Amino acid sequence: MLTLHSDIMELAGVGPAVASRLKRLKIQTVADLLWHLPFRYEDLTRVEKISDIKGNSTVSVKGKLQLISSRRAQRKKRMLVVEAIVADETGSLKVVWFNQPYLAKILQPGDVLWLAGKVEHNYFGTTLMNPAWEKRDNPLNAAGLIPIYPLTDGLTQKQLRNFINQALPNVRDFPDLLSAELKNEHRLLDFAPALAKLHQPKNFSDISLAKRRLAFEELLIVHLAVLQEKAKLTKSPGVKIPFNQPETVSFVQKLPFILTPGQKRSAWEILQDMAKAQPMNRLLEGDVGSGKTVVAAIAILNAAKAGFQTAYLAPTEILAQQHFEKLKKLLAPFKTRVALFTRTRRLSNLETKPLSKPALLKKLSQGEIDLVIGTHALIAKAVTFAKLALVIVDEQHRFGVEQRKALRSKNPMGIPHFISLTATPIPRTLALTVWGDLAISEIPHLPKERKKIETVILDNRNREVAYAKILERVGAGEQAFIICPRIETDPTGAKSVVEEYQKLTQGTFSQTPVGLLHGKLSSEKKERVMADFAEGKISVLVATAVVEVGIDVPNATVMLIEGADSFGLAQLHQLRGRIGRSDKPSVCYLSTEATDPEILDRLRMLTKLADGFALAEEDLNRRGPGELWGERQSGFEPFKVARLNDQKLVEETRAAAQNTLNTDPELQKTPELKKIVETKRRALHPE
Ligand code: ADP
Ligand code: MG
Repeated sequence: MLTLHSDIMELAGVGPAVASRLKRLKIQTVADLLWHLPFRYEDLTRVEKISDIKGNSTVSVKGKLQLISSRRAQRKKRMLVVEAIVADETGSLKVVWFNQPYLAKILQPGDVLWLAGKVEHNYFGTTLMNPAWEKRDNPLNAAGLIPIYPLTDGLTQKQLRNFINQALPNVRDFPDLLSAELKNEHRLLDFAPALAKLHQPKNFSDISLAKRRLAFEELLIVHLAVLQEKAKLTKSPGVKIPFNQPETVSFVQKLPFILTPGQKRSAWEILQDMAKAQPMNRLLEGDVGSGKTVVAAIAILNAAKAGFQTAYLAPTEILAQQHFEKLKKLLAPFKTRVALFTRTRRLSNLETKPLSKPALLKKLSQGEIDLVIGTHALIAKAVTFAKLALVIVDEQHRFGVEQRKALRSKNPMGIPHFISLTATPIPRTLALTVWGDLAISEIPHLPKERKKIETVILDNRNREVAYAKILERVGAGEQAFIICPRIETDPTGAKSVVEEYQKLTQGTFSQTPVGLLHGKLSSEKKERVMADFAEGKISVLVATAVVEVGIDVPNATVMLIEGADSFGLAQLHQLRGRIGRSDKPSVCYLSTEATDPEILDRLRMLTKLADGFALAEEDLNRRGPGELWGERQSGFEPFKVARLNDQKLVEETRAAAQNTLNTDPELQKTPELKKIVETKRRALHPE
């Protein structure tokens, strides 16, 4: 007797060799097999009458075998030809198979066959060539909607269809996770028929109903996990940070500019949240240059004035340094104690000399620092805080969920408020699902109308165009970036920044001051290069994507991105945000060796869209969430059926999840669902 847990070897036709191939498809049990879903279907639903058949078309017919025989081909003697005649009530048709002599033995006149394949007018006359065939009443391969499965070497579609056909009766043992009410209300199929229909649909409506049911369940599980987590956070004790109106007003008045409406609204949303006892978990989205730092500074100021500490995490040492300088200045008039803590540098605005590590650790743990800016070094075990109430993470996708958790737990008083700053907006459907526990503030517009960056795709041959432009602009006193995907040469042949630097300084740019920047340089070196570029001592900076976030050099107006196809759209947008920071026109060249039309098409989106949000959505549609926001979501497994760009279903399931939790917050009524949601929660929010 087969069950869902049965080893795949218990199926007829699966021996050790086939089992090891199935294992490559992650199929080891009957349940695994049933979850191996078709990625498309071949439509053989129209079974034709033989008299209706026209040449050069793909057909499915049902007929009785009249004759069958095999012989050697006349011209190609090594080839065996099986010829047959099938007939239905309307006429007869010639069938030819090559090199399958056994067919003449296993098929006999009188057999009723399903046949599917291409009809050609050729040497043999009007003939059905090499068709798939089947003798059974319910054909799996030669008529109907034929599922096409992902395969591996040494396995055929036919084999998989046969195995699945054997396993299908067991689909009934799969627990149906959804309550009857839910299925009624949302008009959903039961689980077992849905899964069965995906493997053996009668028509296209079967497929879409089945997909809807399975996608509904997948999305519902994520929503339930995320919403339960959100509810838990809401109940956790946090730290109230009262809104300090006088200091905030004074801070805003001292700024050399007026806040944009988006900055004001975001700051207000953050301050309101921080004043509550529940910990805030908020994402601050704003395109590159929209002014997120100032908004963060307002939150920091309020925390400091209430006697609390803030930790500000930057993805690189360079950035931590830049933010230290920036925030130090912004907060200088407010007697705020600001420190920098990275692996190699520890400074404080109160002291001129660098601090020793123990000295700074002591200050942090005794509450003598209001704001500490650093890299992941801040997450180290040794770092403790006296009164940490606010954590700000700049460009969070460099930080995993675990690290965020670690920072949260560093607080003796409860869970600190959390703000993530990002220039890569979360597409709406992701914001509702895997990131559904985040509140979102948006800064929709840049402070002042910035020049649109002209973006041009170059193939290898006309890289000279970019070099010429760089030389021209450098001649006019402006600056340029050349971005390479890799630090050192690697087997993929992607451009290495080190090699490129050597080549360019000896060739095209031998008369030009060129700098090199990448993550493996010592931080002193990085700093010097950055400073030199900022001061204009370096005209062309050859760098890796390390410049992606936060280098602010308005005089830079040209960028050449080598191997542009190896970056995501959102990342390319980030990179190009390094130029176009002044009123001078800027141009960004995307160089690629790719000839794949799909890749070129993706890059072309950048030449058309200037909006980071639209690009992020585009990335989601094309590459899926794993590539974009998914990467840092360690527990995120792509869905089997659900598509995150199906916004309607995402919203419907979100509402259903919320309703379910309203009446049954712990999912007591559906124990199987509860178990699976708990697994998902652990994956999304590791303890
Ligand atoms: P990002 O959102 O990319 O982190 P920043 O916070 O670094 O942007 O701000 C980009 C630049 O714009 C900074 O030089 C900042 O001082 C300036 N800025 C911020 N807000 C405004 C504003 N409302 N008007 C004019 N300039 C602003
Ligand atoms: Mg920033």
